[in-house]
Amino acid sequence: MRLRVVALVTVALAAALPSAAQQLPGIVRPEHYDLTFVVDLERERFDGTETIRVQTSEPTTRVVLNAVDLQLRDVMIGSGASAQKAAVTSDQSNQTATLTVPKTLPKGASEIHVRFSGVLNDQLRGFYISKANNRKYAVTQFEATDARRAFPCFDEPVYKATFALTVTLDRSDIAISNGKVVSDTPGPRAGQHTMTFGTTAKMSSYLVAIAVGDFQCLNGRAENVPVRICATPDKMALGHIALDDALQILEFYNGYYAIKYPFGKLDVVAVPDFAAGAMENTGAIFYREVDLLADSTSASLGARKRIAGVLAHEMAHQWFGDLVTMQWWDDLWLNEGFATWMANKPLAAAHRDWNIGVDEAVENQRALDLDALRSTRPIHANVQTPSQIDEIFDAITYEKGASVLRMVESYVGEATFRRGVNAYLEAHAYGNATSEDFWKAIADTSGKPVERILPTFVNQPGVPVIDVSLACTGNRTAVTLSQQRFLGGSGSGGSGGSGPEGTAERWQVPICIKAAGRSAPACEVLSDTSRTITLDGPCVPWVFANAGAHGYYRTAHSSDILRAIAPRVTAELTPAERLSLIGDEWALVRAGRHSMADYLTLVAGYGREQSSGVLEEATTRLRFVHDYLATDATRPPLERFLRSLFRPLLGEVG
Ligand SMILES: [Zn+2]
Repeated sequence: MRLRVVALVTVALAAALPSAAQQLPGIVRPEHYDLTFVVDLERERFDGTETIRVQTSEPTTRVVLNAVDLQLRDVMIGSGASAQKAAVTSDQSNQTATLTVPKTLPKGASEIHVRFSGVLNDQLRGFYISKANNRKYAVTQFEATDARRAFPCFDEPVYKATFALTVTLDRSDIAISNGKVVSDTPGPRAGQHTMTFGTTAKMSSYLVAIAVGDFQCLNGRAENVPVRICATPDKMALGHIALDDALQILEFYNGYYAIKYPFGKLDVVAVPDFAAGAMENTGAIFYREVDLLADSTSASLGARKRIAGVLAHEMAHQWFGDLVTMQWWDDLWLNEGFATWMANKPLAAAHRDWNIGVDEAVENQRALDLDALRSTRPIHANVQTPSQIDEIFDAITYEKGASVLRMVESYVGEATFRRGVNAYLEAHAYGNATSEDFWKAIADTSGKPVERILPTFVNQPGVPVIDVSLACTGNRTAVTLSQQRFLGGSGSGGSGGSGPEGTAERWQVPICIKAAGRSAPACEVLSDTSRTITLDGPCVPWVFANAGAHGYYRTAHSSDILRAIAPRVTAELTPAERLSLIGDEWALVRAGRHSMADYLTLVAGYGREQSSGVLEEATTRLRFVHDYLATDATRPPLERFLRSLFRPLLGEVG
């Protein structure tokens, strides 16, 4: 899912969580759902029938599944002569229905038959009514826990099953779902038609999707996969940018992943009312209109980037999330961190001029800012209830997850990381996985201690700051690195935090050091609180301890290093590195660790900055210094400094 606005402030999750009571018992597991829906837009209702083929792991008289705001009728368990009528008790607080039969169900295969009905709600979740052009549409949005509002189901990501859907609807409308349309017949009543969709691959219930209305689609094909961009009839023509992007992204992903696009067809549907930015339903991505549609003759660069970026995110989910799904919501980052990390790759490949590396550095800075709060949380979150699950769709899951992946990718090398990712996807395709499965796959492929590094970033809250200082002894450069938890914001004093037992947090930090006059960076894992590394060759005047700007940590270079590196930033650092350096320096000043003099020493090197993203970072901060921090006495010399600093740049733009 791509959120419209990713929550920037996380709240610390309550330490005392309820027991795992909200998870299903696990004795009965679904294998296949046959589902029919009759959608009545006029009366804003739906009726359905369902047969779930299940496997029971031990004899039982009870089946517990999820259902909310649904009326269940004619519930039978078993088939043929052994079918028995089940009594239904609902538990509103746990969002479950318990089906009880008189005679014990044996271990093994069984079937559950249910008739159900519900209201097409106005809450933008479950199966809901959406309105545009003086008419109604019916749309689903199930992530994280709302499939249970549309049909009774085992509504947890681990209960993967295949789904065969049939939808009866008004003759003038169409339905779009996860599978290809395999039949479309008139009736059963006058004015209706019935569309049957091909059985899906094995997938989690939160990825089931149905959209009903007068949608019209643009058609394309990439890698032999039919791709459609669908919208209300008045907006269909605004889908051309998205169609071109979707075809390019599909080709890119089919090249990157060892497993080709696994779901047969891809529909992308712009929905008039949609709460999230977009949702990666398997083979049927649903989208907020403004994030998908734009006039190809007048769309701004920002609009084009947004359309491509969200599509790349949702399409990445077809592998990360849909094909391989986190075992439980506590590892949501395996979906969202991955999709956020991956989405930049097809964009960077197709649009070199978009400077995606700078966008990634901005993404890192956003995560670092949030993670410097005392109230931050670990990426891996202990969540049980639907509201706890909803809370973790935040920048820690998305942006920090992506940043940490970029760091490990950079540490093991892009090609090795890709092999590890593909090994992970192949091992868990059509199944579920945990964080441990992921870091084991990367460790096995790379032979590097990724299984020690990643847990310190995934299971521990916060972010380290790496202090960097230089000494020249015996004509060799000694770089001393030390780590501590970074707590940002004014008034924090920037002192290190402490862990749950009062112990200082420690990370296993892969650090790559770029040095003056050296072509290749030197990479090390900082495991201890402090460590000194000796560089080959004669002494150097400066080092930069975040080569590539891929590290997920703040870097505090000593004042000497800042003075030496400032005049060399344009010549020797990439735009992303420059952004990371100046962004970190500002955070250090705000935390009271470095002085404003340090910041101004460094910023003096940015007078000829050409990258708009980097320039924006520097000028935004300088404006803040000028407007809020400078006094009547210091403002005039500051203004003189800024004028002389940016004079060359202003001269170039005229
Ligand atoms: Zn997502």
